[in-house]
Amino acid sequence: MLCTARRVIPQQLRRHIAHEAATSACSGGFSPAALRRLASTLAILEQKDGKLNHGSLSAITAAKQIGGPVHGFVAGSSIKPVADEAATADGLDKIISVENAAYDKGLPENFAPLLVENIKKGGYTHVITGHTAFGKNVLPRVAALLDAQQISDITAIESESTFVRPIYAGNAIATVESTDSTKFITIRGTAFAPAELGKGSAAVEEGVDPKADSPTEWLSEDLAKSDRPDLSTAGRVVSGGRGLKSKDDFDKVMEPLADALGAAIGASRAAVDSGYADNSLQVGQTGKVVAPQLYMAVGISGAIQHLAGMKDSKVIAAINKDGDAPIFQVADVGLVGDLFEKVPELTEKLKK
Ligand SMILES: Cc1cc2nc3c(=O)[nH]c(=O)nc-3n(C[C@H](O)[C@H](O)[C@H](O)COP(=O)(O)OP(=O)(O)OC[C@H]3O[C@@H](n4cnc5c(N)ncnc54)[C@H](O)[C@@H]3O)c2cc1C
Repeated sequence: MLCTARRVIPQQLRRHIAHEAATSACSGGFSPAALRRLASTLAILEQKDGKLNHGSLSAITAAKQIGGPVHGFVAGSSIKPVADEAATADGLDKIISVENAAYDKGLPENFAPLLVENIKKGGYTHVITGHTAFGKNVLPRVAALLDAQQISDITAIESESTFVRPIYAGNAIATVESTDSTKFITIRGTAFAPAELGKGSAAVEEGVDPKADSPTEWLSEDLAKSDRPDLSTAGRVVSGGRGLKSKDDFDKVMEPLADALGAAIGASRAAVDSGYADNSLQVGQTGKVVAPQLYMAVGISGAIQHLAGMKDSKVIAAINKDGDAPIFQVADVGLVGDLFEKVPELTEKLKK
């Protein structure tokens, strides 16, 4: 796939290219290293209720791989502590922060114009954020406003214009090249470790606030509350599928197992659609992508759409009564048996 450029190369870049072409001793071309020196990336970070989302620091790691200066971006109310914490991230040169409660909920209608102004001001060649609900919501709008194509859900960076992304639920890997002068990229969090905090001391700078009107108003949210580890970043995940039969059984079987392992709970789409689990727990192509140290699939058949969300887990364990279930093809360890018997037995052993 080739994303075509519809915008003119910025004057500064054109001048540099002309200079490189004129002075290059080899072929009259310009070196990739020279272009890399011109790259500069804005890594958009997420915050919630005045707390930096540490998972969003993966955008900084990806930005560092592109080369050139990396600036972080945060916006919302009481943003100073968030900006100060983010400023200690490894590899960050500057944090741009905008203090305004209107940006607390990350509404694309006003967050996109906010980003557009700050991107124009910074003249960035790359803009990166996580392939999260926020990133998927906001970045396409920003890219459209700046007449560029978004490159979504990348798992690797080959060069400053070439990126790798899974397609068809991870069954094929595409290498895509973009010639847009500003590249808008969402990254798969499990492919880039979050940048370490406490390693840097970037300057914090106030960004531009266009205070764009939003036709959308945030009214309320109804979130499932849990003391368990966050599904997207947990080191251990136990997921239940349609084999659990009912919500009561799902809770009765999966919760003690999760407690015994200190794990987050996930679910297949069939379990979510049947009302056994909240949809925020769905793992897969249309749910969350996870890559924990341990992923345990209980009563899950292993459809490709489910595998798309968990196949990069370090150790995959499966419990299923059907020995031919496709989940066993990706599992490192498997147990063929009735989950209503095997899981409580395993849970008791784990508790000991
Ligand atoms: C566009 C699209 C996107 C999708 N996105 C997702 C997604 O993000 N995530 C996702 O999960 N799916 C997704 N799906 C759905 C996917 O195709 C499957 O339908 C779904 O994953 C099946 O869920 P399951 O494995 O829980 O159910 P089933 O396929 O019905 O499997 C249930 C399993 O439980 C086992 N079982 C039953 N009883 C017991 C027992 N007592 N003990 C042990 N094992 C038992 C059975 O042997 C079976 O293997 C998507 C589908 C489409 C078309």
